[in-house]
Amino acid sequence: MNTIIEPFRIKSVEPIRMTTREERTTFLENAHYNLFALDSENVIIDLLTDSGTSSMSANQWASVMRGDESYAGSPSFDRFHKAVHHLMPFSHIIPTHQGRAAEKILFSIIGGPGKYILNNTHFDTTRANIEFTGAEAIDLVIAEGKIPDSEHPFKGNMDIARLEAFIKEKGPENIPLVMLTVTNNSGGGQPVSMENIKETKYICMKYDIPLFLDACRFAENAYFIKLREPAYANVKVETIVQEMFSYADGCTMSAKKDALVNMGGWLAMNNPVWAEVARNLLILTEGFPTYGGLSGRDLEAIAVGLVEVVDEDYLHYRISSTQYLGRHLTEAGIPIVKPAGGHAIYIDARNMLPHITPLEYPGQSLAVELYLHAGIRACEIGTVMFGLQMDGTEKAAPMDLVRLAIPRRVYTQSHIDYVIEALTEINQNKAKLEGMKIVWQPKQLRHFSARFLPINSVQNQKENFSKAFQAENA
Ligand SMILES: *Cc1c(COP(=O)(O)O)cnc(C)c1O
Repeated sequence: MNTIIEPFRIKSVEPIRMTTREERTTFLENAHYNLFALDSENVIIDLLTDSGTSSMSANQWASVMRGDESYAGSPSFDRFHKAVHHLMPFSHIIPTHQGRAAEKILFSIIGGPGKYILNNTHFDTTRANIEFTGAEAIDLVIAEGKIPDSEHPFKGNMDIARLEAFIKEKGPENIPLVMLTVTNNSGGGQPVSMENIKETKYICMKYDIPLFLDACRFAENAYFIKLREPAYANVKVETIVQEMFSYADGCTMSAKKDALVNMGGWLAMNNPVWAEVARNLLILTEGFPTYGGLSGRDLEAIAVGLVEVVDEDYLHYRISSTQYLGRHLTEAGIPIVKPAGGHAIYIDARNMLPHITPLEYPGQSLAVELYLHAGIRACEIGTVMFGLQMDGTEKAAPMDLVRLAIPRRVYTQSHIDYVIEALTEINQNKAKLEGMKIVWQPKQLRHFSARFLPINSVQNQKENFSKAFQAENA
């Protein structure tokens, strides 16, 4: 059977309000063409992110009622600890309110000027927390990881030769930690192979440097190992996960991804000295070590989520439906980053819309049209997000992508078919899409709040006319 069916029935539904193109035009104008400024109630299918947007199961909701909200020593912490420890057997497991809180604590302990933290590709909050301490965040993903249409099965792999060369050059004493992000989010949700995890561990051991996993999408990564690494074809995903973590000395985790909950995270490690300092820092900003930044009920939902996320029927549905979207977009002639990642499909908007130059934001133009045409919200990952330089000038980002991130267990096959149809129609009329210009922006992280106008819009022409008029008469 080839039809992908969701391995669940729906017991509780969340209505979607349907909107017309005319309504969406108004919503978009009011949002200054920035999709972050839309009310989510006016979005038909929201593919902005897979973070914190998962749907919880009946079992998770039942566990919420069991949550014990005692300040210290809650049995909910025991259940959380047991579930995490089963997959990730570290000596110290410290709950936090989300992944970045775990990063903040970890790098406060081991970061600082003159230090280097190496990773396949650092996620933005990881990089920001490292740089905040004065340390440098270095990306060492394999060369294929940066080529959009390279079909390498493990594009998230660490470049082992560059890793060792970097350690030799800077000295192991300046490298407190090596990380591997599984799957590599900033690199397109691409997995890391077990072989590469082992090779990375081998180099780390040689120079006595601990290895941590940025574990956010550990279950998706493990499933890719099962599908693509022949030695693991018949190994249970749960066992693959345990093996992945057996090579690590600790991890940071955002439960908003592969723990199937809406909020939460943890920091785990074997080093008792670091763990002691981490618990003291935890008390300052997150809370007592048996709850961290979370309620007892959150800890319960995570404990159940960790069992459900390694279920192979779930993972089969999860990865097949992302691949189904990727395959149909490719068949429709839409260029995407290949192979399809675990949690998202990335459309290569620069390649799809060659008539729009990077500084006219082809990714933003496509994301705006996707909303206008079908009420689908996606995220530009390109020149709008990365193009603004420190000195206020602007340059094209390496790629102009539009990310379609798929929330876990939220949308059905027919929702995905709707997304495919919308993009196919847009692709047929793509010559009509026009570039955008930014009419206002903040100094940093402009993608969240910048205001745009379509280049040929009446408003834009009026604005240009009045500027020219004022200049002439000044
Ligand atoms: C989401 C994410 C984080 C940060 O987690 P938050 O819960 O959003 O703070 C860190 N690393 C990766 C790879 C992520 O995807």
